[in-house]
Amino acid sequence: MTIDYQTLQAIPQRDEPYHIVVTAAHHDDIEFGVAGSVARWIREEGATVTYVIITDGGAGSNDPDMTREQLVELRYREQIEAAARVGVYDVRFLGHLDGVLQATLEVRRDITRIIRETKPYRVVCQDPTSVFVHRGYVNHPDHRAAGEASIYAVFPSAETRPIFPELLAEGFEPHKIGELYLNLTQSPTHYHDISSTIDLKMQALSAHVSQIGAGEDFENGAKKWLMQGNRDGGTMVGVEYAEYFRVLKFDEDRESWHKEEMERREREAALK
Ligand SMILES: [Zn+2]
Repeated sequence: MTIDYQTLQAIPQRDEPYHIVVTAAHHDDIEFGVAGSVARWIREEGATVTYVIITDGGAGSNDPDMTREQLVELRYREQIEAAARVGVYDVRFLGHLDGVLQATLEVRRDITRIIRETKPYRVVCQDPTSVFVHRGYVNHPDHRAAGEASIYAVFPSAETRPIFPELLAEGFEPHKIGELYLNLTQSPTHYHDISSTIDLKMQALSAHVSQIGAGEDFENGAKKWLMQGNRDGGTMVGVEYAEYFRVLKFDEDRESWHKEEMERREREAALK
């Protein structure tokens, strides 16, 4: 059954210019997960966006002829191209070792620095609580570590003056964000219609040739199943294609948590 899209989607359009930071463990995570939404926020709301790729991408191949150094360089170029295709020209590479990422204080500080520098209204990251995704996918531990480090960079690190005093010394004052969006989540609260940007999203994804191949390999592989995944998301709310998020809002006056909880239950019941 589909329900009234407007009641569930509820990602309000913002009228004033704002900045978004999107973090991810790997080159291509953003294109798989949220590039359709990013493209809409840029095109329709004039948002500016910074991508933060936390690992160096060097574990993304089982080809014995591919060296780690070659792959890191290749994936760097692919990510720059993928970002540009949706209008993102600020991409930061933190260079932590791919495949064995941990949510260390060092990673948290690196992300905190970028949040304090670019002062986003919204941060988008991977949901660290996702262990199993649908049937047949064990979430990559790097995704969970990236999400955990990002969340704790947002709170408390970015907004609390005494945490990471070295950042103050570098000139980065505390910053409090307005919204946190978790993707790769099993507890979505918001579905975002990306029907108008699904083609752009696929163009961005197709830049990651080292990961998903090209031509028929891409069309019948990654593109096909991701289109289906976004179609499934859309089906949940009666639109063609959707990405979905768990959204936390820090900038609105809270009513009662009881009222919020009742509304959440209503939404969930409507989806059954
Ligand atoms: Zn990944």
